[in-house]
Amino acid sequence: MDRNVSKIKVFKFGGASLRDAASLRNASEILKMHAASPLILVVSAMGKSTNSLEKIHEALYNSDIKEALKRLEELNSYHRAIVEELFTDSSHLIYSNLNQIFDELRVEIEKTPEPYFDQSYDRIVHFGERIASCIAAAHFKESGLMAELVDARKLVITDDNFRDAYVDWDLSYERIQECCRKYFEENGRKIILTQGFIGGTEDGRPTTLGREGSDFTASVFAYCADAEEMHIWKDVQGVMNGDPKIMPDAEFLPHLSYRETVELAYYGASVIHPKTIKPLENKRIPLYVRSFLHPELPGTCINQDMKDDKSKPSYIFKFNQMLVSVLPKDFSFINEKNLSDIFSVLSRNNIRVRMMQNSAVSFSFCCDNNVVKMPMLLKDLQERFVLRYNDNVELITIRHYNESKEEEVIKDRKILLEQKSRSTRQVIVKKR
Ligand code: ASP
Ligand code: MG
Repeated sequence: MDRNVSKIKVFKFGGASLRDAASLRNASEILKMHAASPLILVVSAMGKSTNSLEKIHEALYNSDIKEALKRLEELNSYHRAIVEELFTDSSHLIYSNLNQIFDELRVEIEKTPEPYFDQSYDRIVHFGERIASCIAAAHFKESGLMAELVDARKLVITDDNFRDAYVDWDLSYERIQECCRKYFEENGRKIILTQGFIGGTEDGRPTTLGREGSDFTASVFAYCADAEEMHIWKDVQGVMNGDPKIMPDAEFLPHLSYRETVELAYYGASVIHPKTIKPLENKRIPLYVRSFLHPELPGTCINQDMKDDKSKPSYIFKFNQMLVSVLPKDFSFINEKNLSDIFSVLSRNNIRVRMMQNSAVSFSFCCDNNVVKMPMLLKDLQERFVLRYNDNVELITIRHYNESKEEEVIKDRKILLEQKSRSTRQVIVKKR
């Protein structure tokens, strides 16, 4: 796009960076440090609000309206306490704006739930981001930042695959370009503030993009606005070579390629939503993952340069996994026809396989031990195959492995299955 203000940056603040009044004040300080360039700011729901909204939806589905309304009150009090700390003037517009959104949510809750679980999930759960963005916009304006709140449901246009909607890139591109033109060029705004995780169908129904999807929203905006950079602000220094909660000596990775980051996310590193990288890579937009507690630090830079990818091994731990071995009932060999049947069943049940291997007579795979999906999958497979399975195993993936640390991580644990390529070692071990 040929515009004067071409150097747009996209920032994403997640729930942890907006969980209370102090965090919001901190966020506005960070924004002030970056006031020079036009900014698209994507926010997700505050703290653990999305979990609370999921509980409300669940209660509705169990026809427990009392429980749903009780949880609504808790959600309201949580946000109200933040607003009261930020705005001492009780006649401030934020109070009526917030009441309006909560009234809308209450109406949604009191309606008879639709028969379609995923669609009604989106109608309830998307409110978290709307509430957060409404409060954040008011606070940033109050702090002197020229922020314009825009509704992601009208910009991120999706299909109606509720709960995991697909973005219509052409339509979203048009809408986002138009929005940037309007606010950055014509109205001289510095910040466009919008919601992560949520979108809308062309006919105006709210959708969501999958849990933790705000990172992806930020990259949709970065792609569609032809941004110069994207920054994800987190409570860690950047990307680490292991989850610090599991591996206290995890080390910081200053630089990674898009390719390596996608691999890490694919194997289950929770630092960035896996869908985030591709749109950035296509336009070579660098991504910075950095700490909102130490905004002076540069964080991890992710771009196309692969030179540092092998500098340190990375460790990804997936708990609560299931290892399933599938054997043809007639004790024939595992052949292409059997494999094709197994994969059809996996695909029909929407199962994400994390590791697989076959021998002459059996095919084994590892996937999340999901309490809803797994019983259905096993039943489906049992029609044609004999099954053996181990529930509650753990999957350890090591990228760019080297022996010394590897032994320390696996130690004396019993290895049930193992696979090694030149870059990646995966082992399935028994739960301790
Ligand atoms: N608020 C949503 C969630 O918690 C989206 C996100 O945080 O990225 O899943
Ligand atoms: Mg969140």
